[in-house]
Amino acid sequence: MKLPVKIVLFGTLSAAFIAYLWSGPSLNEESLKGVKVLVTGASTGIGEQVAYHYARLGAQIVITARRENALKEVVKKCQDLGAQKALYISADMGIPADADRVVEFAEQQLKGLDYIVLNHIGPSPYQMWDSDVDHVRWLMQVNFHSYVQMAVKALPALEKSKGSIVVVSSLLGKMCSPFALPYIATKFALNGFFGSLQHELVMKQSNVSISICILGLIDTDSAMEKIKGYIDMTPYPAHEAAWQIIKAGALRQSEIFYPWYTYYGVLFRDWFPHARDLVIRSCYNYQP
Ligand code: NAP
Repeated sequence: MKLPVKIVLFGTLSAAFIAYLWSGPSLNEESLKGVKVLVTGASTGIGEQVAYHYARLGAQIVITARRENALKEVVKKCQDLGAQKALYISADMGIPADADRVVEFAEQQLKGLDYIVLNHIGPSPYQMWDSDVDHVRWLMQVNFHSYVQMAVKALPALEKSKGSIVVVSSLLGKMCSPFALPYIATKFALNGFFGSLQHELVMKQSNVSISICILGLIDTDSAMEKIKGYIDMTPYPAHEAAWQIIKAGALRQSEIFYPWYTYYGVLFRDWFPHARDLVIRSCYNYQP
């Protein structure tokens, strides 16, 4: 065989293999009909889209966030889309007791749980860190401690149903960057805790799976508002991010990346650290 033919053949086979890997397992949507789901941070953004996908598939859903009026509207839309059940409970994850209260409500109302999708984040300024230690402590409670607390509370019910914990995380939980230090710290904490819990659950032969969803920039109002003027980057759609999150849970995938390129960001992160840090800083418009 001539060399160019060999190269073309090798290239085609490699492309087909990569496409096969990326296509991943497929989801039987019917399998989500009637499943019992708790979605946090579902009054807007990605969580709201997660609720709508589950609703369209005929799931039974409890959604939570702080703003009651917004939650009522999402519940109404979930009912219109075909949810078997759609309920809300307003709660503030800055208050430790609220995390338990939400899980108890969902378990009682749905008579069990198949999935908890931990997605909420507290508001945090996008700026150079202003040394506000109290804000870091508070955000840790909202974005991290409440996740741990809800997961622990839901574990017995999930164990019974062979259920799943789905954790919505970020590329910023894998890669250090400027302007969002408290948020980034909470996402690193989530990846570390739930990534390690994955090992322990497997070692204990638990029925419960954990899916960690690593997201890049998504076009939610809050994210767009934050990065305005700082960074020029094309965001990816929230409804598609939400679908990838649901698929990850249903297929019991341990970690997923959306959009696809975030995977390579993490894969090559430590190969050329100096160049990486220059590239990261050059992404931001900042004049001291
Ligand atoms: P978002 O639009 O800001 O929504 C945040 C949700 O959390 C809202 O429903 C909000 O509702 C709720 N929330 C805020 N403070 C709360 C509190 N103290 N207690 C309970 N609920 C609270 O966020 P998003 O952009 O959709 O992001 C969703 C997830 O995706 C997050 O985990 C985020 O880290 C991750 N992610 C997003 C992006 C992105 O570019 N958008 C990128 C990577 C990862 P209330 O105000 O009604 O409480």
